[in-house]
Amino acid sequence: MTTKTFVIGHPIAHSRSPLIHGTWIKAHGIDGSYEAIDVEPGALPALFARLRSGEFAGGNVTIPLKEPVFALCDSVDPLATTIGAVNTLVARGSKVHGFNTDFMGFLGNLDQRAPGWSTGLEEAIVLGAGGASRAILVALRERGVKKVNLLNRTADKATALARTFGDSVVAAPWDTFGALAPRAGLVVNTTSVGMHGSQFSDLALTKLPKSALVTDLVYVPLETPLLAEARALGLKTVDGLGMLLHQAIPGFEAWFGVRPAVTPDLRAAVEATL
Ligand code: NAP
Repeated sequence: MTTKTFVIGHPIAHSRSPLIHGTWIKAHGIDGSYEAIDVEPGALPALFARLRSGEFAGGNVTIPLKEPVFALCDSVDPLATTIGAVNTLVARGSKVHGFNTDFMGFLGNLDQRAPGWSTGLEEAIVLGAGGASRAILVALRERGVKKVNLLNRTADKATALARTFGDSVVAAPWDTFGALAPRAGLVVNTTSVGMHGSQFSDLALTKLPKSALVTDLVYVPLETPLLAEARALGLKTVDGLGMLLHQAIPGFEAWFGVRPAVTPDLRAAVEATL
């Protein structure tokens, strides 16, 4: 019997997930399908009824459903609860379990593109305190990074988010970047700055150690102004496309029983759609 999976969201036409999972289904010769289904929040209970009936093995969840699905899941992984969003559903019998794989995507991307990046990493700077920032804070906590300086345009949001993570995450004013930079081995941009020609005007990347790694969650354009500046300074950089590809791995493995790989061919196929 064909194993059916989906990505749900509203709107959903822009999603690159069908391309990613479709490529893996084909590559592994699996009798499976992965379809994009437009689901409004009000239609979620009906979709969950289909999941519980065994019609689907599971699926991905995107905007604006990542929070509404919490109430419908039979269980939610504690890390997804900390992140405040579920992006992956796995059906087992009549039960639906919710996970968040964004933090794994972030880690998988850096592990592949900058092996050893977290070894001895003591201090990092995270820019942004929105939804994506939470996944990055969980990822850095999972890797035992001792101190994360959290900078956000709206300072109160950074303060509130840092509080939920305990002592290892410290909110700091945006203009302290230059003072914090010399001790930072990693800078992560989790803001939307970099999209649509936008860029930071006031980040003193020159103050970072030469060994620092700069990474961006924005992947359109693939090389954001932040990454271009860091690269010009001779710093290591990793773009955000790999996070999108790697976050898809755990779901695929749970639904189809095969752990897929992020290959140069897959990356090129998705890059061609940017
Ligand atoms: P979000 O919840 O809306 O948060 C947006 C963040 O950007 C906030 O911290 C906001 O600061 C900041 N920001 C917006 N405009 C700014 C500006 N002009 N200057 C400084 N800060 C600014 O969005 P999100 O869900 O966290 O997503 C953020 C970005 O990550 C998006 O571009 C998204 O596409 C990307 N992302 C990529 C992946 C991936 O797989 N690569 C995964 C998730 C997200 P304020 O609080 O001050 O408004």
